[in-house]
Amino acid sequence: MCNYYFRNAECFVNGHLVKASVTVIDGRIDSVNTPNTHDLPEKDLAGLLLLPGFIDPHTHGGYGIDCNSASADDFIRLCGEFAKTGTTAWLCSVSADTKERTIHALREAAEAIRRGCTGAELLGIHLEGPFLARDYHATFDAENIFPADPELLKIYQREAGGHIRSITIAPEIPGAIELIGICHELGIAVMLGHSGATWQETVDAAEAGAMGITHLGNAMRPLHHREPGILGAALDLAVYMEVICDGVHLHPAFVRLAFRTQGSGGLLLITDSMMATGLPDGAYVLGTREVTVCGGISRRDDGKLAGSTLTMERAFQNLAAFTEAPLEDLIPCSSRNAAHLLGIDSKKGAIEAGHDADLIALDKDLRIREVFCRGHLIER
Ligand SMILES: [Zn+2]
Repeated sequence: MCNYYFRNAECFVNGHLVKASVTVIDGRIDSVNTPNTHDLPEKDLAGLLLLPGFIDPHTHGGYGIDCNSASADDFIRLCGEFAKTGTTAWLCSVSADTKERTIHALREAAEAIRRGCTGAELLGIHLEGPFLARDYHATFDAENIFPADPELLKIYQREAGGHIRSITIAPEIPGAIELIGICHELGIAVMLGHSGATWQETVDAAEAGAMGITHLGNAMRPLHHREPGILGAALDLAVYMEVICDGVHLHPAFVRLAFRTQGSGGLLLITDSMMATGLPDGAYVLGTREVTVCGGISRRDDGKLAGSTLTMERAFQNLAAFTEAPLEDLIPCSSRNAAHLLGIDSKKGAIEAGHDADLIALDKDLRIREVFCRGHLIER
């Protein structure tokens, strides 16, 4: 169980696609390009690409489940569903909500992590709020946007059993810079977003340790040539930029622009998916708000976009189509960069000895053909 010898695939190794064999023992990558000396079951992946599994650091759910109201069982079900489209690790995004509902979601997610499963690994929680700019609350209820409150964040992290791994903060709210320092002490990566910040406010937050920008271009002040704002700073600074690559949240030309400015090491492919992902059009909820999904696009009744119905598989296909960049440059955007953001790049995000055997095999059209989560073959 969880032992394989993969051969004949074009593997992504050390930044290049090369024909290589991969030995997996007990759910870990044991070696790359060595003979099958352990006599492991062989899998011939001729004609396929073998890549590190997708890591989705920002999703609100799918398959009828919303992360704000999910039970531990629901989170574990999502691990199984997400794995089918190539996600091998993920963060559940809990959006700005009442304190009681937030704590409930954090406890349930922590319980799911404690139980574990054989699907996509739930790495932790992304808190999208509540310390955001009121003018950019987007899909969230304005009454659930709170001033910077280190004590509340400490309570949340305690209730989550330490599993909050990232948070979205608006850098311009009073106390944001101090809060970024506290996030560091709590082991939480800081993303900037839901914000009308100026260029300088964004630079100050990045210098204080913020590492990335939440869903670039969405729920933030637009770019202006005399005040580039948070969006201009995102393109200029050495920070990660989340992109929702569905062709709706960002124009394909803007995805190209973002890729050209930040390159292979700068983009984070996310889904920002909501509960309708994997289900037909209809009426759903995102966090506390009712939304309607039509043609796969999720909107509030005022027409504003409200999450996506993307899968990582589709997002990766779109990124390739929009940028027309070499695949070798795109693969880190769906794996290694998120692993680095979360400080787990010594065990996830690459095909390397010692890493978890989170592996996906894709055909030349970038359709998923096989998925392995920590060496477990996922039934699809
Ligand atoms: Zn979100």
